[in-house]
Amino acid sequence: DPPASQDDAIRATNDDATVSKLSAVNLGYLHDPFVHFFVRQPVRRSPLINRGRIPSLLTSLGHLIIPFSAHWSYVRNAALNQLITKFLAAGGTERKKQIVSLGCGFDTRYFLFKSRSPQIPNQAATAPSAFPIHKYFEIDFPELTANKSSVLRAHREFTELWGSEATNVMNVGASHSPGGGGTELYAEDYVLLAGDLRQWESKVVPRLFELGLDMNLPTLFISECVLIYLDPVISDAIIRWATDNLHFPAFVLYEQILPGDSFGEVMIRNLQARNIELKGIQACPTLESQRRRFLDRGWTFAEAVDIDTVHDRMLARGEMARISRLEMLDELEEWRLLAQHYCIVWAYRVPPVSSSSEDSH
Ligand code: SAM
Repeated sequence: DPPASQDDAIRATNDDATVSKLSAVNLGYLHDPFVHFFVRQPVRRSPLINRGRIPSLLTSLGHLIIPFSAHWSYVRNAALNQLITKFLAAGGTERKKQIVSLGCGFDTRYFLFKSRSPQIPNQAATAPSAFPIHKYFEIDFPELTANKSSVLRAHREFTELWGSEATNVMNVGASHSPGGGGTELYAEDYVLLAGDLRQWESKVVPRLFELGLDMNLPTLFISECVLIYLDPVISDAIIRWATDNLHFPAFVLYEQILPGDSFGEVMIRNLQARNIELKGIQACPTLESQRRRFLDRGWTFAEAVDIDTVHDRMLARGEMARISRLEMLDELEEWRLLAQHYCIVWAYRVPPVSSSSEDSH
């Protein structure tokens, strides 16, 4: 295992993500009534600190400020939410499904979907009409889930979404509680699990089954800036496991690509200066190789697009008009360059058609 300090640096990327999301919410780009609970001091940070989800790059592009990052948060979230909503709606909302969020950090998506909150103002139509979730699993390091779980427990805004007060008390349990604080949470359709993804098969998978993962239900994995930090041997093993064990696996991921050009080199160098290594980027450096990590395993469908393309083609016109009125995005060239270095990939595997009746004998 890498030295602990490297893990700390990777965990700290979640703070960047959270602060950046909150600034996008405060500027009106995103609707998320939950994320502020995770930011202890919502002090107004200087623009350069408040650069959030694309932090290290801005060291070299120091003139880019908050609106840039808020715009980015918006595009990334809108695209991912669109794909997740599609998964939830597929086959009708009465068809139960599962979500496994790898390296969930302080993500609030479960609560947004559960509360049927319009992800984006005036976009209630994109939210599923019901919440067809058997279980929504979130996994991260115990250091992180301990914090998340204490915030979740402390606020009615979260606990009321698990059902009635009484049900909460009975069903929300905690385990692994060094020093009295729980690092995990179990509600009827929500599980916050403490684990290290590097121990996927040996430790994480047995806990998932123990806590209710159903191999026969459609299961969506979400990796939002997570697999990229893992050795490709590990991320490969996770995808292979999903392929071999789940009846209907699907995947949505967001991460960096194109390490080879000068911009990519700056991106990698700046992260290295923070002791963060993009371990996965050489194994899946392009949109094509991102697709191949699924298609080569026999998945039915895989698509990969960069954020630049998402921005131009995937987002609702009305929404684009709305956010372009919020702030001027005048660094368009830098935006595009950066946006070509991040991608969104989605893939699914439909089970092979069960063969002729002879096979069943
Ligand atoms: N997915 C969240 C989001 O997009 O807001 C958080 C993203 S943050 C950039 C990366 C997250 O992955 C961190 O919360 C980190 O702790 C988690 N992570 C990285 N490596 C991990 C591992 N080996 N096991 C569990 N979690 C891990």
